[in-house]
Amino acid sequence: MSLAICAIASEVSPLAKTGGLADVASALTRELHDGGHDARLFVPLYAQIDRTGLTLHAVPNLHGFSVALGEHHYRFDAYTARLPGSRALVYLLDCPALFARDSLYTSDADEHRRFIALTRAALESCRHMNWRPDIVHCHDWHAAFAPLLIKTSYADDPALGTARSVLTIHNIGYQGVFAASAASDLGIGVPADRLEPTDFAAGQINSLKHGILYADAITTVSPTYAREILTPEFGMGLESALAARAADLTGILNGVDYSEWDPRWDRHLPIHYGPFTLPRKAALKQRFLSDNGLTTANDRTPLLGIVGRMTGQKGYDLLRGVLPELLASRNVRLAALGSGEAEYEQIFRELADAFPGRALYRHGYDEAMAHWIEAASDIFLMPSRYEPCGLNQMYSLRYGTIPIVRRTGGLADSVTHFDPLTERGDGIVFNDFDSNAIRWALDTALEWYADATLWEKIMRNAMRADFSWAGQAKHYVRLFERLAATKRA
Ligand code: ADP
Repeated sequence: MSLAICAIASEVSPLAKTGGLADVASALTRELHDGGHDARLFVPLYAQIDRTGLTLHAVPNLHGFSVALGEHHYRFDAYTARLPGSRALVYLLDCPALFARDSLYTSDADEHRRFIALTRAALESCRHMNWRPDIVHCHDWHAAFAPLLIKTSYADDPALGTARSVLTIHNIGYQGVFAASAASDLGIGVPADRLEPTDFAAGQINSLKHGILYADAITTVSPTYAREILTPEFGMGLESALAARAADLTGILNGVDYSEWDPRWDRHLPIHYGPFTLPRKAALKQRFLSDNGLTTANDRTPLLGIVGRMTGQKGYDLLRGVLPELLASRNVRLAALGSGEAEYEQIFRELADAFPGRALYRHGYDEAMAHWIEAASDIFLMPSRYEPCGLNQMYSLRYGTIPIVRRTGGLADSVTHFDPLTERGDGIVFNDFDSNAIRWALDTALEWYADATLWEKIMRNAMRADFSWAGQAKHYVRLFERLAATKRA
């Protein structure tokens, strides 16, 4: 059965990306399209999107259409572009008043309105094209009002009234909370009594919570995270709302786009390697070390890699008490890439200052560098406090770069602790968020690394792991088909 799927997201790789959401929105759309479905992804045409080499086609029925949010009126033009390596279309919604800002996300007073307008513009586009999606797939808080809008403002609309909605939560830490006084911005027809009353009485509106309340199904990006967010420790205040929808909540692990992330053909790498050409990975590491001013005593000096947003979620503060001692006492090298909150950036800046030639910190967002670090490192560190899915640990596995992860969320679902007796497993998994546990994990990794034969075994196991989207997208298709069937009944 071929489905019509309208996906709404705030990011799409490679055009506009700050994290894993962009990769998922892009890869899932491509995969659904390649599976014969009419999947169309709607994202903002941000000013940051590099238009060189991007062919934009104006959509005839979507020129100069207007979206009114309360007193605010916005004019939209829509363009389509092909996602790289695919015939799948992304609809880029152009509204400079909203999307020509200094960054994709802002702390401007109208931040909520920017994304409610995106949601409304995507739904309006369906109407204007007279396109009837079976499924409206909403990613994160930015699109989380769509289910409520479909059930209220668009309930009698021929294009949208019967659509089923799915909310995918990529990270429950970001909920899109804004003042209740902005309720009128939701625009036509959403009755105040459909807004969540407790928050509303307290003067707030929580975008993600409305998605949880009104979507026909809710997914998140790993089975373990789906269980975790039902608890106060991980639910970030939404655990009760989720518990009430537990029967409609599932976890679907993200896939990996191996056309981008495989050391056999990674376009960012000067040397390619695979499981049967591992010495080339060692050569790549040497090149990386010398290009980046890191010294090396010999070929078997382990390189630890880190790529990630510098936020509390990623657990880098755990490394503060461990890495200085490790770099001082053991023959290791460190390469870290990422930007975010100053407090976490500072950890790596201080390490780079204290250990010149041993520790490298690259601040900023650098796609090529991310690929280099994945490929050149021996060990990859992801000590996350929580991790809905996490992509870098899955990339690491394919690169034979053994991940050290905490047993949480998607990390628990994608990395198996290696067992030297059975020689099964592909990483180092620790449980507790404390420095003893991460110290144990690092010591274990270095001990196994010192045994070149054993390490090669772990690398081979890791490189065999397969998280391709072809497999993961099937779970979405099954869910969408089940929902679409209820629509026809
Ligand atoms: P999250 O979505 O929480 O940021 P994920 O592991 O799911 O974490 O996805 C992160 C994605 O963003 C990966 O593709 C990773 O390579 C990329 N990334 C994160 N920080 C940087 C950076 N500073 N430079 C380049 N890529 C980065």
